[in-house]
Amino acid sequence: MIDPWSSAILNYEKLIREFGIRPFQDLLVNLEDPPLLMRRGIIFGHRDYGKIIKAIREKNSFAVVTGMMPSGKMHIGHKLIVDQLVWYQEKGADIYIPIADMESYSARGIDFEESRKLAIEEYITNYIALGMDPKNKNLHIYLQSKNKIVSDLAYKLARKVNLNEMKAIYGFNGSTNIAHHYVPLIQVADILHPQLKEFEGPEPTVVPVGPDQDPHIRLTRDISERFQKKYGFITPSSTYHRFITGLTGKKMSSSNPKTAIFLSDSPEVALKKLKSAKTGGRDSLEEQKRLGGVPDDCVVYEMLLYHLLESDVELKKTYQNCLEGNIMCGECKNKATVMIKNFFIALGQKRKSSKKSAKKLLNHD
Ligand code: SF4
Repeated sequence: MIDPWSSAILNYEKLIREFGIRPFQDLLVNLEDPPLLMRRGIIFGHRDYGKIIKAIREKNSFAVVTGMMPSGKMHIGHKLIVDQLVWYQEKGADIYIPIADMESYSARGIDFEESRKLAIEEYITNYIALGMDPKNKNLHIYLQSKNKIVSDLAYKLARKVNLNEMKAIYGFNGSTNIAHHYVPLIQVADILHPQLKEFEGPEPTVVPVGPDQDPHIRLTRDISERFQKKYGFITPSSTYHRFITGLTGKKMSSSNPKTAIFLSDSPEVALKKLKSAKTGGRDSLEEQKRLGGVPDDCVVYEMLLYHLLESDVELKKTYQNCLEGNIMCGECKNKATVMIKNFFIALGQKRKSSKKSAKKLLNHD
């Protein structure tokens, strides 16, 4: 069982084997210009993504839904979702971003006003600073607690879901609060509501998530089939991305600041943090020259892979040089820290100018 509210590290291969998630790599040949995250296997799995590829190729409408749960500061690992949204926006998708203030309240006890503030000042500001176009007419950002269409739909869908099913999917028990039981239904409605007639649906919909969110996807897909006749839902697709490793080698988490580079960090702090990150280097220079480093076990390399190095050729060179012991960690880290500093200088400037648009975007809804 996968718990979407825990921060456990998941075994990706096992997910593919046991939960029916398909390898994404097999689809790459069908995409004209796959973005970095797809090319490099960071998006590793999918359900039914063929429908989305078809919509992209035939220039038909499709929707992307991905929520944000305001529960703390955003770290650089959260950038993965924004990178995907930016790409989908370029492809002409209808983008829906529910702000999961109801989930934040039921799972973390964060009240609605605080969620709203966090969503504007932290999440939406960063999304815009990272490249999301706030003026795109196909962008819809809303607070779950304020969206009557979503809450009405959730209530209607709940008619065909029972407690035993929720227990089996989420491991809920007798002491789970009722709000927590209900909130997954809101998420199902978040994902399915773009397919309602009011939104000119149905249309293929994809939900890019971390694999820990797969229980919501499975529930949504099942429910969409139960209501297929009534609403004409097209069963939603999903993609799954790997999580970035934290600076210490554990999962990067906002609640464990030692593991994370926050998007609101200054360039100097980001640089310092990356400098102290765990590498796949050997105990001595002599050993590293002789045996080579282990890039697959290196946080610095991962940062290049996920975020800092655009060029696949350069990345491959770094990987090879590391493996063959041609490059030492000090030199490699220095290059990466210059890149991260520049990235954070640019991001900091964009964050300043994004705050106003972030406010407007949410107040508009
Ligand atoms: Fe990591 Fe670079 Fe050291 Fe290789 S040389 S282990 S990629 S820091």
